[in-house]
Amino acid sequence: MSKRRIAIFGSTGSIGRQTLEVIEANPSLFSVEILTAQNNVELLVNQALRYGPKIVVIGNEEKYQEVLQALSGTGISVASGEQALEDTAGLDIYDTMIAAIVGFAGLRPTLKAIENGKTIGLANKETLVVAGDIVMKKAKEHHVHLVPVDSEHSAIFQCMQGEDYKKIDRIILTASGGPFLGRKPNFLVNVKREHALQHPNWSMGAKISVDSATLMNKGLEMIEAKWLFDVTLQQIKVVIHPQSIIHSMVEFEDGSMKAQMGMPDMRVPIQYALTYPARTRSNFPRYNFKDPAQLTFDEPDIKTFRNLFLAQKALETGGNMPCILNAANEIAVYAFLKNRIGFLEMTELIEQAMEKIPFIQNPTLNDYFESDAEARTFAASLVEI
Ligand code: NAD
Ligand code: MG
Repeated sequence: MSKRRIAIFGSTGSIGRQTLEVIEANPSLFSVEILTAQNNVELLVNQALRYGPKIVVIGNEEKYQEVLQALSGTGISVASGEQALEDTAGLDIYDTMIAAIVGFAGLRPTLKAIENGKTIGLANKETLVVAGDIVMKKAKEHHVHLVPVDSEHSAIFQCMQGEDYKKIDRIILTASGGPFLGRKPNFLVNVKREHALQHPNWSMGAKISVDSATLMNKGLEMIEAKWLFDVTLQQIKVVIHPQSIIHSMVEFEDGSMKAQMGMPDMRVPIQYALTYPARTRSNFPRYNFKDPAQLTFDEPDIKTFRNLFLAQKALETGGNMPCILNAANEIAVYAFLKNRIGFLEMTELIEQAMEKIPFIQNPTLNDYFESDAEARTFAASLVEI
């Protein structure tokens, strides 16, 4: 069997690094062909020297020379800039893209890979939040497998193997609740970046860690689920499950429920996306039913964690509203991480953008880009960044 040729877009991030761990543990199955990063030259260069891709792309053009020099004489091509990311996704030198760029920036390269007929291991949920209709339509047109990497969606996708999507009654998305589970606004008002970055069960990039703390992550995941599994807001139930052992569930029309379980370890869904539709052995830690011995379930507190409510509203409204929500959220999280605004102010910023930016019922791809830019400019003007 020939090796699967892998392109990792966002290789220096949390998902990117764990993807390389999975590949390194299975050298006979995979080869690394493309690696990309935005700023982290040192790690990108080290990864390139270790895994020997054909091409590396550094997003930030100011860092191009540095990468070029570090890799001179290796035979590895170096490119730089946003356009190069997209062009590289259009090359025919790989089979599967792991889409692990964070935020809206991942949209263009992922769309290009879909047009290029490549299998996508999709970690970048923002791509579906922003332009899910276009992404799904293009995937269908080009007969592309979109295999979710997000643990909840991987769980549902695994539960759906051999099943008919029309027989889904409900999807139960589990949520850990994040580091502030059970907290009220009088506590949250004083929360700082350091607290928000301490997730109890997962070690992730900064943006998704803050999204997990505000429950926006679960809201984005509801929108992601809508597109991946063709379900409505009413068919998606969020359940707080602090142990993160059940990664999500599907309830079918006959009342039967399927759950996918395991330790909270992103390498499992990453490996599944890399090997799909096959499975391969791994030696990651296993759940032994003793630690934790109890699995608990509860309702989310959307009165306190209003970002989840806003995301549900955006999902129900449709059109460019999820795109506006996402753009304002990216600015809000950025401002929070820079200590420019407080934890609860993130919600206000998003809500104002959703009221202010013109609604479009049936947006084109270009409309999405414009709404994204408008929402960012507006949100940034409120926080002076
Ligand atoms: P991260 O911040 O650790 O890494 C992001 C990667 O994207 C880095 O390689 C960075 O260089 C690159 N990048 C950042 N901005 C860029 C830009 N403007 N242009 C091009 N590249 C850029 O993030 P992460 O935690 O690895 O998350 C990546 C994606 O996966 C996110 O969409 C996140 O929601 C999703 N996801 C992550 C996890 C997790 O456990 N980390 C779980 C589920 C889903
Ligand atoms: Mg998730």
